[in-house]
Amino acid sequence: MSEQKYYVVIGMEIHAELKTKSKMWCSCLNDPFNSEPNQNVCPICLAEPGALPVANIEAIKNVIKVGLSTNSEIANFTEFDRKNYFYPDIPKGYQISQYKYPIVSKGELASVPLTRIHLEEDTAKSDHAKGEYTLIDFNRAGVPLMELVTEPVIYNSKEEAGKTSSNFGKALQRLLRTLDVSDADMEKGQMRLEANISVTTDPAKFGTKCEVKNLNSFNSVEKAIIYEVDRHIELIEKGEKVIQETRGWDENKLETFSQRKKENAHDYRYFPDPDLPKMYLHKIVDLDKIKEELPMLPEIKKAALEKIELQPKQIEQLLDDNNLASYYFEASKGMDISNQKLLANYLLTDAVGVISKSDNTLKLPSATTFAKIINMISEGTLSSRGAKDLITDILSEDTDPETRAKELNLIQNQDPTMMKKIVEKVISENQDQWSSYKNGEIKLEMFFVGKCMKEAAGNGNPKIFIDIIKSL
Ligand SMILES: [Zn+2]
Repeated sequence: MSEQKYYVVIGMEIHAELKTKSKMWCSCLNDPFNSEPNQNVCPICLAEPGALPVANIEAIKNVIKVGLSTNSEIANFTEFDRKNYFYPDIPKGYQISQYKYPIVSKGELASVPLTRIHLEEDTAKSDHAKGEYTLIDFNRAGVPLMELVTEPVIYNSKEEAGKTSSNFGKALQRLLRTLDVSDADMEKGQMRLEANISVTTDPAKFGTKCEVKNLNSFNSVEKAIIYEVDRHIELIEKGEKVIQETRGWDENKLETFSQRKKENAHDYRYFPDPDLPKMYLHKIVDLDKIKEELPMLPEIKKAALEKIELQPKQIEQLLDDNNLASYYFEASKGMDISNQKLLANYLLTDAVGVISKSDNTLKLPSATTFAKIINMISEGTLSSRGAKDLITDILSEDTDPETRAKELNLIQNQDPTMMKKIVEKVISENQDQWSSYKNGEIKLEMFFVGKCMKEAAGNGNPKIFIDIIKSL
């Protein structure tokens, strides 16, 4: 490869199916995954003549929530347009989308600037699996679909471009789930990523771009970008041209392949849909109220967890699971930092670890119960072994932890006379170490605690042992 410096330019387009009760223009159930084929259909989503659409206000509010969470501008005026193209899975012969006046514009997420977020409808689903003919399921036709488009961003390397883009996708997925506006499951196609990729030697002038589709995981986003950048550079260095086209990603071969030449925007003959009213959003939705009701956003959650100094892996685990994060924050209320860390360890490793291995019959006890267990550990009433046993027990039956610990005989020995006898026995058996300890070898303290714990067969409170050792 030559000494020539290449810049990588990436723009992302992400579609996400919104989680609303009904579809975008009709009252059919928005539930394509749990229904029989063509169960949720009506004259509107099947585009029978004369059927008129009515816009779903919940879907509009969902897009606004995403906009408010990314510091974007919420349009005052918005309208829906017809995007004309023919395809068997699009019954009207056009898709209702937004062209000139998207609901959301500008803003930023995970250091990537956004161009716009607009609302449209999903297509039906074609099933070519039968071979000679194609089946069409219209359950998905008219499901509200959000499309987010980012600004093209210039990167210094393919690695940086890949990493930032996959992180962006992950951040958006987390945001959509936190806002509860989409399940954003990529395997189910509820979130679909496309990357516009080009390379250039002159950052003021973009190269020819290729759009890569079928990116079904964040990992494939990263790999596809790196693959495509290498392909472009190779073509350029051979003196050949990069052709503007849509490419797919082959997950098995780990390479992109040509799908079709890109249509130009004007081919769609966009025009405002005469069946839908133009909207002045500030008049029909209470933006302040939506803003007030936004949940704790992932970035703020992340900052709060970093302040507690949890391990990066624990932070990721909590950020990936909204319910678990809410549970953690509820249980940690009023705890000091060391107990908050203790809580993260026992919750994420022991409790969740046991649950994820079980056949889903186990569930977490109430957050207050879990907080009680953590306090028992930090006060020394429960050993670390005892805590694990108690947690496993309480996962199958949410009972009072103190009563249950007593029943299971998990309370650590705290009888001072008994404990003093143990310490004295350990000292008499380890005279040499005892003199060194008394002469200032403080680190031997843990040696004695360990011996005492062993002597007490794990049933002793290490804090009390330390106190006795010090007093002697
Ligand atoms: Zn319908």
